[in-house]
Amino acid sequence: MKVLKLSAQGLPQSWISLEEAVLHYAADEVRWEMGAEIAVFHGGHNAMTGRQSIITVNSIIGTQGVPRINPFDLRPTLTNSKLFARDRNVCAYCGEACHDEVCTREHIVPLGQNGRDTWMNVVTACKSCNHRKGNRTPEQAHMGLLYTPYVPSLWEDFILRNRRILADQMEFLMSHLPKNSRLHA
Ligand SMILES: [Zn+2]
Repeated sequence: MKVLKLSAQGLPQSWISLEEAVLHYAADEVRWEMGAEIAVFHGGHNAMTGRQSIITVNSIIGTQGVPRINPFDLRPTLTNSKLFARDRNVCAYCGEACHDEVCTREHIVPLGQNGRDTWMNVVTACKSCNHRKGNRTPEQAHMGLLYTPYVPSLWEDFILRNRRILADQMEFLMSHLPKNSRLHA
């Protein structure tokens, strides 16, 4: 279970562990909270009152400090896991679903023809389609694309990089997606 850490201005910063979230609470760096309470930590006893300190962690927190991420100059890094999630584990050529272990990163313009390893030149493909297409473009191979690639936004990137997102975190991230995002199911 991860906590969605945002800047005080509400821009996503990172997925952090419960323990990392507690450190933000303890350092009094949490400016606001959203979502559900997902964990309670019991700290030490106050020497004066004998009361035990308690930190309640929410699923979404806004923290102070200078944001590390500027959404306007961010290009999300390309990984197979995020690519397959972007394409919903569907082969771009035959439309069959594939599991992560058997999906492949397929270069639309092959690397051998100076294609680049970027979000806009890759799609998810099953092994047999990738093999059949080989070192050819879709036109050369007479294999049309069933969907087009796109560069995920910062918000989409946060959805793609975590496979176990809590319902309220998902709702929050989805509310920021462009209307044409493929992640709208
Ligand atoms: Zn296929």
